[in-house]
Amino acid sequence: MIELRNLTVHYGRAIAVSDVSIAFASGSVNCIIGSNGAGKSTILRTISGLKKPSSGEILFEGEPIQNLSPKAIVERGIAHVPEGRHVFPELTVEENLKIGAYLRSDAAAVKRDLDQICSMFPRLAERRRQYANTLSGGEQQMLAIGRAIMAAPKLVLMDEPSMGLSPVMVAAMADVIRMINKEGKSVLLVEQNANVALSLSEEAAVLEQGRIALRGKAAAMMDDEHVRIAYIGV
Ligand code: ATP
Repeated sequence: MIELRNLTVHYGRAIAVSDVSIAFASGSVNCIIGSNGAGKSTILRTISGLKKPSSGEILFEGEPIQNLSPKAIVERGIAHVPEGRHVFPELTVEENLKIGAYLRSDAAAVKRDLDQICSMFPRLAERRRQYANTLSGGEQQMLAIGRAIMAAPKLVLMDEPSMGLSPVMVAAMADVIRMINKEGKSVLLVEQNANVALSLSEEAAVLEQGRIALRGKAAAMMDDEHVRIAYIGV
């Protein structure tokens, strides 16, 4: 349901993503793993319309979206959890969550989703009236995910959700990702932490210097020698 066709993205004259073609089916968690600077964030930013590709196409549910605005892309059902959280520090937890729903007019459904997120993230529920800048890093990451879910997306793009989290919080994050998927949403993760990403995913791709170096079932990739040496460190 999300397909990149010959996608190339530049920053000025520097190429960040080079002729990437890949498709991920709906309904599952999938991932793109790769090291620093491989182009993972650029791919997500291009899908969500924050960066325009130099060439190629992005198809969502069969329709090209690469020329749409970020707002129109959210309306199509794609929400982005950016790297480094980016919550609104001077707003409360609840206000941050409500901002995620700013394009929705179905007040009753928004209220229902807010309640559901509070039950999904009890730590956020307890801190509903607290300012976002007083949350721990892990709580802010949960809030950024909760805010994306408030847009009622079909596909959630997550940029390095495990970054900077303690092992306990990484495990909690993995549970949240499974839960989101169980609710019928597709998830596309990009991660340097290959272990976590592959254990959560159905399909995976390895991105190296802007190109797809390998792709296949995540379970099989865990046993791939190149992946183990380069990305898992064993
Ligand atoms: P990381 O895991 O370190 O975030 P990444 O795989 O997400 O890495 P990108 O952030 O997509 O990689 O970066 C891909 C390449 O594009 C890098 O060489 C980076 O320096 C370059 N790049 C990213 N953003 C910009 C920008 N705003 N201006 C110029 N170059 C950029």
